[in-house]
Amino acid sequence: MPAALLIVLLIVAVIAVPAASSSFWLTVLALAAIIIANPIVRAVRKNRYFASQQFQTLKAEVAAVVVEHNDVVDYVQEIRAKGSFELGASSSGQYAHLASFDNNSAWNYRRDRNVADYAPHVHNASLQVVRSASAEPIKYLMKYFSIAADQETLADVQRVADDIARLEDAVVNVKRREADITALINPPKFILKHYRSEFWDQIGVHLSPIEVPYPRYKFQYTSAGGNSAQETSVELNTSTLEALSSTLVDKIRWAKSAAGQRALMTTRLRGEIKERDNYACVTCGVSLSAEPHLLLEVDHITPVSKGGLSVPENLQTLCWKCNRSKGAKVA
Ligand SMILES: [Zn+2]
Repeated sequence: MPAALLIVLLIVAVIAVPAASSSFWLTVLALAAIIIANPIVRAVRKNRYFASQQFQTLKAEVAAVVVEHNDVVDYVQEIRAKGSFELGASSSGQYAHLASFDNNSAWNYRRDRNVADYAPHVHNASLQVVRSASAEPIKYLMKYFSIAADQETLADVQRVADDIARLEDAVVNVKRREADITALINPPKFILKHYRSEFWDQIGVHLSPIEVPYPRYKFQYTSAGGNSAQETSVELNTSTLEALSSTLVDKIRWAKSAAGQRALMTTRLRGEIKERDNYACVTCGVSLSAEPHLLLEVDHITPVSKGGLSVPENLQTLCWKCNRSKGAKVA
């Protein structure tokens, strides 16, 4: 960018000041020298900083923290890879790939406008449906994305909610650790501004680019002429999933177990279990008061897949390491 700026500056100078004085050209040359020299000077300062005794000492001091950080990053990737982040799908356009669509209007060449977007997460609907969906997202989500009010679906919704909550906690945990490492090393501002990724490379931190993959469901309307398009979209985040779970529970008529009606995993219940267990892992005893960055998870003692309920008696607090090795044994 500075080089482009320089060229523009020179062109402007040549056009606007054909008979410029020598002092004008000296100023232009000085400016050019500054623009070219600045990144070079910065790179020299950067190399000097990374090679400095001070940086090397700090790097050695945080080495153990970095190792643990990288372990948690790997764990986040595991949750992302093994978790389920999908629910129902819309059947609108399910077979759309079998047809080809052409807008042959002679009077209007804006052909790209009224091509519907067919995807499992997109429901193409009338304007009325798109508007109603924004007023009652849960009801319309269930109706048009085939999310049935039965126990099997409820278990699916709870599984997605659980994986999203675990991933959210783990991602927050990783970010907190990164902030902590930055604070411990406290590099000069220009390093973080211009050499951020090199900074992490030098320390040996594996950055985690993982964002929580919230499924997003869309209700789309496009008018026949393609001039009008409206959309309602619903993100399946923790609040949507909890609302969906409790709506399903209300709708399901439990044949056998009435107690099952209250057995919902929620953010609140998760918090209550951690509090009950004094924010400590029930297996190895490590606690949040001893390790401020500890990643704690709420585990089903008998897994949901084996009929375990989300009730306090079947829930326990585990640190991520114990939960990970328990998961490895079960699987
Ligand atoms: Zn533990």
